[in-house]
Amino acid sequence: MLIKYGVPLLVFWLPVTGAAQVVCALGSGASSYKASADQSPSPDAMQLITRTNAAVKAICVSSCPEVVVFRNSTASNLMLIADAGRAKLVYAPQAFAAVHDRHGDAGIVALVAHALGHALDDGLGAAWIDKGWTAELRADAWAGCTLAKSNLGSADLPAALAALADYPSPSHPKWSLRQQAIRSGYTHCGGATPFDTRGGKSKPQ
Ligand SMILES: [Zn+2]
Repeated sequence: MLIKYGVPLLVFWLPVTGAAQVVCALGSGASSYKASADQSPSPDAMQLITRTNAAVKAICVSSCPEVVVFRNSTASNLMLIADAGRAKLVYAPQAFAAVHDRHGDAGIVALVAHALGHALDDGLGAAWIDKGWTAELRADAWAGCTLAKSNLGSADLPAALAALADYPSPSHPKWSLRQQAIRSGYTHCGGATPFDTRGGKSKPQ
């Protein structure tokens, strides 16, 4: 499957009623985002996003969200925006570089899996989704499911979890709650690599 800038990755159905709406923003600075600065994604980033998308496709199959991808240095680390009936995945290149330096490919895959998890959550239900979970925890659970479908190696899963822990949204609850949600999605979607219960912040700030 060939995916290009501006070409929808998936079929999308977030309810949209006009103005662009930030569904998720990892990190701070979402209020500084200027859509006019959207640019085409870099090939390196697109490769990892496409890899994540392949795992997402294994979950949603024929009823997948439609997502277009942009690079934008005014964005927070990673944003999912509902805009005029489609979803925009917008990444800050400086953030992606930092995530990749620290956590490698698996770190990027994990953060993209969380953002796309919001879109999955909007259209799919699952028995393993706890009704008490917030939208961020449900997206984490779908990220866990996506990681399970991502053929990660044994060293990749801890890196993925550490990236998720290091780059929360401002409305995320504490890591122990997030870990339960990620684990639920991961195990119910057939994750084979032992889930590292010691996962968590890899840096103090
Ligand atoms: Zn989120």
